[in-house]
Amino acid sequence: MEHPCLTCGACCSQYRVAFHWMESDEFTEGGVPHALTEKLDAHRLVMRGTYAPPIQCVALDCKVGEYSRCTIHPNRPSVCREVDASYEYGTYSDQCAKARAVHGLPELTPADWLWSKVAASNDDDNPDDNGNDNSPSSPPSPPIAA
Ligand code: SF4
Ligand code: SF4
Repeated sequence: MEHPCLTCGACCSQYRVAFHWMESDEFTEGGVPHALTEKLDAHRLVMRGTYAPPIQCVALDCKVGEYSRCTIHPNRPSVCREVDASYEYGTYSDQCAKARAVHGLPELTPADWLWSKVAASNDDDNPDDNGNDNSPSSPPSPPIAA
């Protein structure tokens, strides 16, 4: 069994991914690649492909329900780091559940994470790994504007 996000990608194909322009690599070293963004308003950028439907983030390498990979995972926006998969950290995620439902995927349950209990650590390539590594701190604001 593997991390459910690796066969999903629904959230990256569902929501507008908006964040402060300061997160761009034009202003922050190691930030979000500016070329993959566009202006939303005076204060925010959006990931290309997520401004309006049909949504699919330009950084996403994915066939929803089969495989999914964020091609800028170490440099993804803070809002993406804030979206946890349901029950990965013990709690239900409405954003995860809603996105999966739209794409015809069932809600995750605690049983989807039993494999992780035996994993040696959480320091891996999981697409929504918020626990450590190369992730800068994330703001507390609501992550994604639908
Ligand atoms: S957070 Fe949820 S919707 Fe997003 S890729 Fe993971 S399982 Fe899919
Ligand atoms: S930047 Fe990565 S994690 Fe964020 S929406 Fe795009 S593909 Fe998904």
